[in-house]
Amino acid sequence: MPDTLLICTDLDRTLLPNGPQPESPRARERFALVAARPEVRTAYVTGRDRNLVEAAIEEYAIPEPDFVIADVGTSVYSVNDGAWALWHSWYESLAGEWKSFDGKSLHALLADLTVLKPQEETKQGRFKSSYYAPESSDVEQLKNEIGPRLEEAGLSYRIIWSIDETLEVGLVDVLPEHASKLHAIEFLMHRLHYENADTLFAGDSGNDLSVLCSHIPAVLVANATEEVRREAQQLCDPEHAEAALYCARGGFLEMNGNYSAGILEGLVHYHPYTARWMR
Ligand SMILES: [Mg+2]
Repeated sequence: MPDTLLICTDLDRTLLPNGPQPESPRARERFALVAARPEVRTAYVTGRDRNLVEAAIEEYAIPEPDFVIADVGTSVYSVNDGAWALWHSWYESLAGEWKSFDGKSLHALLADLTVLKPQEETKQGRFKSSYYAPESSDVEQLKNEIGPRLEEAGLSYRIIWSIDETLEVGLVDVLPEHASKLHAIEFLMHRLHYENADTLFAGDSGNDLSVLCSHIPAVLVANATEEVRREAQQLCDPEHAEAALYCARGGFLEMNGNYSAGILEGLVHYHPYTARWMR
């Protein structure tokens, strides 16, 4: 798409100021000014499902995006005046990998692993099988137990481990191999004819690393933990010019670089002319 920018951003603790660090006054307001520009299209890229994305838009008064990549990359929607349309073509491309399984029917393959407790039905999807596990689980061992059971069923898969700090429980997501934030963004870029140079990604945590350290220009917001910052810098090959990662540090328009302030700082780093949209 010539002459427009595609801004892809994670939600929790990236655009949404729901971490312990403070949010700069006016940061979200300025992000909304940018999102409203005719030269900009936005995509929210998140582990949340559609209902939780809609709840976040309302709760935090963030702009309605043009696209939503939800359920950790397993669903792609376009959004127009409150009407959400699911992109079936993305579903079809994942369906080949996942055969006739879905989140629920996959439980049977893992039923003998008693440390895994299937999450609520609303958290299961066509391409997402989600479980609770003890926070103290040995993640490598868990993956070694899950993997062979899926391979035997002929599935190519990814296993994502994360921790819900509020519930103090481990979260295990089993997904098709290509169901990821990165692959879904690449699919969106390809369909809309965006090149790397017209695309920006913003994120804050472990499940953003595959995009932060990809060929897509990216910004790590300043409220990211030191651990994620170190991991991102290690993963991003500095010799590879395309693998651009900018770490927001604050100072732009006297903002602190946290959350949406970091997204804007990154945008101006890659596209200096956009600064005039943010006064
Ligand atoms: Mg996040």
